Amino acid sequence: MFPILCDIARPCGPWFSRYSAPWSLQATIPSSFATAKCFFLGSLYRTVGGRLYTSLPLAASCFSTVNGSPSTPNATECALVQQGYTQPDFRSTHYSAHMMPQWETCQSTVQRCLLNSNDPSDPTAWEDNECWQGAIASRYIDVRSEDDVLAALSFVNETGANETYPAITIGAGVPFEDVYAFAEENNITVVGGYHQTIAASGGWVQAGGHSILSPIYGLGVDRVLQYKIVTLDGVLRTVNKFQNSDLFWALRGGAGSTFGVVLESTMLVEPQMSLRVAAISFNQTADNARGFLELLVNNSYKWGQEGWGGHMGPASLINVNPLLTLEEAQASVQPIVDYALAQNGTAVVEDLASWQTFFGKYVESAEASVGVQTILGSRLIPTDPFFTDDNGKEALVDLMVKMVDTYAVNPYIIQGTPFLYNYTEGTTSVTPAWRNSLWQIGFHENMLYNATLETMYAQYEIVNNITSWMRELAPDSGAYFNEANPYEPDHEVTFWGDNYPALLELKNKYDPFKLLDCWMCVGWQGPADERYSCYLNISTDY
Ligand SMILES: Cc1cc2nc3c(=O)[nH]c(=O)nc-3n(C[C@H](O)[C@H](O)[C@H](O)COP(=O)(O)OP(=O)(O)OC[C@H]3O[C@@H](n4cnc5c(N)ncnc54)[C@H](O)[C@@H]3O)c2cc1C
Repeated sequence: MFPILCDIARPCGPWFSRYSAPWSLQATIPSSFATAKCFFLGSLYRTVGGRLYTSLPLAASCFSTVNGSPSTPNATECALVQQGYTQPDFRSTHYSAHMMPQWETCQSTVQRCLLNSNDPSDPTAWEDNECWQGAIASRYIDVRSEDDVLAALSFVNETGANETYPAITIGAGVPFEDVYAFAEENNITVVGGYHQTIAASGGWVQAGGHSILSPIYGLGVDRVLQYKIVTLDGVLRTVNKFQNSDLFWALRGGAGSTFGVVLESTMLVEPQMSLRVAAISFNQTADNARGFLELLVNNSYKWGQEGWGGHMGPASLINVNPLLTLEEAQASVQPIVDYALAQNGTAVVEDLASWQTFFGKYVESAEASVGVQTILGSRLIPTDPFFTDDNGKEALVDLMVKMVDTYAVNPYIIQGTPFLYNYTEGTTSVTPAWRNSLWQIGFHENMLYNATLETMYAQYEIVNNITSWMRELAPDSGAYFNEANPYEPDHEVTFWGDNYPALLELKNKYDPFKLLDCWMCVGWQGPADERYSCYLNISTDY
């Protein structure tokens, strides 16, 4: 019997996992949120063939209070313990028994669970006392082979700092669509992206990962606890804040396709939560966009403080809030509801039972346009001064209106920065601009399937022009690597800020022969490589 030291006195619930193809869904969470705290133990449980047991003191079955909670005594088991209490063979075959019972107890706090050794049937021992775990480890493994010992020691190595979290482990390639459905079945919420096809453990969680729940719960990189990755030296590494912690930091914003192939990530989960949803739209005209954009800019700081996140544009909004009541939510968005209705638009403010309910109704059904040639650009918009100062607000509205008026390009506004999230400085490698911004503004140009080379250059120029306006507006901010202009000037600083030098050092450490390279990734070798010969020859010096 091998003791596992663990800070959870509560027994783990039943574990189950769902597997599909080896590289698709490998999600492992327990059957309820409460027992999800044992997530690291779930994989150990499976590795040792289910012979991971929860342990209680030897005589616990006699007591009506165990570890501070009411417990139903089991007379049969209690009788067996009384019978064997002073028998060496009985003691040696029970995990929580010692030959000298004081070592089962916490002597310094006098917390114990003992019978009267002179008369183990003496009921005053359990009638007059509570049973406490004392010095008995809360779990043990019934070791049957060296593999069990290896599994136990590897577990201790990975989790030795004794931290437990409610979490889910997701294999590379599993789309959020499957993750959300699985979360719904298990009464939890996984904070993830706004499209069903995004792979939860792929580019999303390695480069940032915003969600409309991020304002409260953080970015994907904030919520990831561990990656398993094969690095370029062919080594499978477990990467978390205790092991390979430098690589953990790098993967929390500086990848993918940069440091190796991630096989899985483990990320925090939240309990299932209901959401207040505001969905507003109206027909956009030359006259009504500015008024709505002004309302968005004027209200967003307050909405941020209230916990709203969402996607907005000059004539639409879909925002969610897990913190407010329905009445509070209705009052909060009333000015834009009034505006939309005055434009003969529609406005719904409702209560939905879970993230999955929301996602099915508003995201999957909307079918974000894909299969269209689309050139993206984006910028993170700092809270101060653009949402705190009248001049800042006006400059932001002016810029968005200029996009619409000059190029008929609508701003795609995402309130998905970790505005209320309590970030621990230095734990991720995304641009620090995420931490002081309230919005990401995206913009795009679509190209026809038969666009000429000349037209394509012209359309990239539009995106580059808007990118430069954004840079002029907020020169010290940055952009999200995953949704940025592919011809972003000074991309190292824009995507990673002052984290870049350390990221480059780690790239050189983990990929010294530069076996992985991708466009504008950390350590990018530049556009001259043959693999980039299909990219247009567009200067980033603008
Ligand atoms: C319709 C749509 C909606 C989106 N919505 C959001 C959103 O709400 N929030 C948000 O933050 N982003 C969003 N994005 C951006 C999205 O996060 C990025 O496109 C992201 O890179 C997707 O990652 P993927 O692994 O699914 O895609 P892929 O194209 O497969 O991978 C992207 C990059 O990551 C690398 N990569 C993938 N898997 C691994 C791995 N296992 N190990 C190492 N490298 C890997 C790939 O090589 C590639 O370089 C959206 C994108 C689209 C198209």
